[in-house]
Amino acid sequence: MKQSKMLIPTLRDVPADADIKSHQLLLRAGFMRQTASGVYSYLPLAKKVLQKVEQIVREEMDAINGSELLMPTLQPAELWQETGRWYNYGAELMRIKDRHARDFALGPTHEEVITSLVRDEISSYKKLPLVLYQIQTKFRDEARPRFGLLRGREFIMKDAYSFHSSKESLDEAYNDMVKAYSNIFRRCGLNFRAVIADSGAIGGKNSQEFMVLTDVGEDTIAFSNESDFAANVEMAPVHVQYEKSNEELATLEKIETKNQKTIEEISRFLNVAKEKCLKSLLFKVDEKYVLVVVRGDHEVNDIKVKNLLDAKSVELASSEETLNILKAEVGSVGPIGLTEEVDIIADYAVQSVVNGVCGANETDYHYTGVNIGRDFQPSQIADLRFIQEGDPSPDGKGTIQFAEGIEVGHVFKLGTVYSESMKATYLDENGKSQPMIMGCYGIGVSRTVAAIVEQHHDENGIIWPVSVTPFEVHLIPINMKTEAQKELADQIYNKLNRESVSVLYDDRNERPGVKFADSDLFGFPIRITVGKKAEEGIVELKLRKSGETLEVAIDNIVDVIK
Ligand code: ATP
Ligand code: MG
Ligand code: MG
Ligand code: MG
Repeated sequence: MKQSKMLIPTLRDVPADADIKSHQLLLRAGFMRQTASGVYSYLPLAKKVLQKVEQIVREEMDAINGSELLMPTLQPAELWQETGRWYNYGAELMRIKDRHARDFALGPTHEEVITSLVRDEISSYKKLPLVLYQIQTKFRDEARPRFGLLRGREFIMKDAYSFHSSKESLDEAYNDMVKAYSNIFRRCGLNFRAVIADSGAIGGKNSQEFMVLTDVGEDTIAFSNESDFAANVEMAPVHVQYEKSNEELATLEKIETKNQKTIEEISRFLNVAKEKCLKSLLFKVDEKYVLVVVRGDHEVNDIKVKNLLDAKSVELASSEETLNILKAEVGSVGPIGLTEEVDIIADYAVQSVVNGVCGANETDYHYTGVNIGRDFQPSQIADLRFIQEGDPSPDGKGTIQFAEGIEVGHVFKLGTVYSESMKATYLDENGKSQPMIMGCYGIGVSRTVAAIVEQHHDENGIIWPVSVTPFEVHLIPINMKTEAQKELADQIYNKLNRESVSVLYDDRNERPGVKFADSDLFGFPIRITVGKKAEEGIVELKLRKSGETLEVAIDNIVDVIK
């Protein structure tokens, strides 16, 4: 492509409202422009990067037997009403009306559409499993769109959905997906880490996020310095799951914990009634971890407690003050702040969970003097939000460290949540109707582009990994008006095109300083400068990443590049 024919509006100055490097550089290098808050036009260079990333995604999805389809952005409210998400998705769901005043949503995700599609088309176990994916524009009316492509209100996502007749089949597809995601992000040149994510009410190791490690990430990852344990700290705390039999548990001291009334009693135990608890929150008070278990699907209470903890006031408060705050914030029942919503507040254990108190396998009973690791193996982790650097890792190996991350991908075992509410069933081998078991898997394609820039730049501009670069070569004659230079540049341009090396030819009559500054901003891997030695058929080749230069004769140029 000839640069004079393309729209690449570069900027010399850092745009005022762009706080992070990827946002600044993508604007400065002329890759994109904002159209509205959180809404961007991808200019020609960005479009090329998107296509490369999408191609990598397609190859890896196809390799695990995913088939691509394209579903509508415009989604009728009725589908969202079936799952109830029309009512509880909140303000992030972009809602519009058609001319007949019928409600629609602009899809933020496609579980409803795909479940309705598959329910209508698949009726037998013989057609399962099925993995479908699309690459498409999504809409989310984010409360705080920011950081350019990292958090847009309109953005590009690859979303995949899988349908199964058994848990084993779902596990298989999920594991394939995890591998495919690793391949994708590796091929995009990213330094990333798969971390355990909050899987909400489903619990367990049923959800992982792919985090790109940078210092601008909106997520915080806690990881062990000695094992592959890594989790998003926003992860809901999960109660300890017991791997001891009831007989073994009988050797521990058991106490009844029903209707606890005093702070002393409360602070002696922890109730982890697992069937009922939606979320619990662990925080530190006076060197002790205090666990709040919020029961039932009280989303509202959960948010209240969260806000409370985010305010940090609780962290500094004594146990009693904490109770008072909770009492004031969440409700007021009973003398010690116990409410129906905040069911139990307990002193979890001093520091690293030694001689702590654990919820029982039996409702309303707890064990005291419990040592995690000795008496129970925690198969899931506690709330990490209040764990500090250097604390023991929940898997017992090493200590906790922190890193910032950008969530570029998310894989999730859904189970039958959607198939049950939307009645997506199939007939099994025995002719019996069963809800389909589902998984969903997302990649932020446009966010990935920004994440790549976050990890690949220097003070002069972007440094694209070869796999996703808009062009492999930037060809720059220093002076287009010097006949020898123009001629040699033309010759190289044609040659590279013939060899299918993608090249951007800076055929503008600009000063060399301007051309080089632009070139560094764009960040293609190789720059070929045609200058004084043009008459001898010699050009300078410079690697963007290392700054290494070498002189190459025109006849060798293709070999050197390839
Ligand atoms: P976040 O926690 O950052 O809000 P999410 O968990 O809401 O993301 P998912 O529903 O898991 O996002 O969507 C799948 C992927 O889509 C995410 O992993 C992320 O890469 C991307 N994504 C989500 N929201 C945005 C956004 N506002 N802008 C760009 N990409 C996004
Ligand atoms: Mg979100
Ligand atoms: Mg998230
Ligand atoms: Mg997510």
